[in-house]
Amino acid sequence: MQKGIIIKGISGFYYVKIEEGKIIECKARGKFRNNNITPIVGDRVFIELIEEDKGIIKEIIPRKNLLIRPLVANIDQAVVVFACKKPDIIFTLLDKILIQIESYNIKAIICINKSDLDDNNMFDKVKSIYEKAGYTVIKTNALKNEGIDDLKSLLKDKISVFAGPSGVGKSTIFNKIQNKIKMETQDISSKVKRGRHTTRHAELIDIDNNTFIADTPGFSNLDISFIEPKNLQYMFLEFKDYIGKCKFTSCMHFKETGCAVKEAAHNGLISIERYNAYIEILEEIQNNRRKR
Ligand code: GDP
Ligand code: ZN
Repeated sequence: MQKGIIIKGISGFYYVKIEEGKIIECKARGKFRNNNITPIVGDRVFIELIEEDKGIIKEIIPRKNLLIRPLVANIDQAVVVFACKKPDIIFTLLDKILIQIESYNIKAIICINKSDLDDNNMFDKVKSIYEKAGYTVIKTNALKNEGIDDLKSLLKDKISVFAGPSGVGKSTIFNKIQNKIKMETQDISSKVKRGRHTTRHAELIDIDNNTFIADTPGFSNLDISFIEPKNLQYMFLEFKDYIGKCKFTSCMHFKETGCAVKEAAHNGLISIERYNAYIEILEEIQNNRRKR
């Protein structure tokens, strides 16, 4: 048996990269089929070789997570890309994307691209708000290859997916990191231009032996109404240290007295921008629930 990772799936065939680096074309057959589990890109599997470059998937190692769009298992982190300008950063959008990523228990990195257009200290602003929240924030200028090596070192030995609005430079960055395949755009994948019956499957691109990036961006759906209002607080990482210290255990950190989160925001321990974003988004999901 050989251990590997599924990097691509096409009509019943799975392409498994095994530890020595070779890619084996596999069929799926094995006990996991009885449990109704279908192999998915990103799955770590055990295969049995039947020929030098052909094999059978025997076992799927339990997944740590499963992203639906794109369909990829075992994602370690998401690189959230925004631009200093063109388009301008919409902070609520950034917060909503981060909330979605947190809800999958995936680590997020924030990449601020188009640093050549940063005439308003946008990068410094993002860095000061989001580093305090616990995120790594880096800047890039994809056109000039600046910051790309920093990003590459953050990707090393992980499975990553890109996220962020269109036009910020995700495909440009993707193409600087690897030069094999062009990134699938969000528009194409969400509109399913290939017709109704051909599901587009994401592919993992390996940029060195154990470093993978999905060729399709994720987290483009901004609907966060699936989050229960009481769970929203856990999607703001920096609240964690204060949540247990509120006077009421059911505290929503809004209008309650004795709220440690609110106090931390007023003392500058939590950035006020993030606290305000929490309130704005909390009200939004509460209102949406009332309307239903
Ligand atoms: P995506 O929609 O996020 O994949 O964005 P693209 O990669 O298609 O980039 C959108 C536009 O921004 C293209 O015209 C790129 O050439 C341009 N672009 C990408 N990176 C940079 C950058 O660092 N600086 C500047 N000025 N333009 C960039
Ligand atoms: Zn509170």
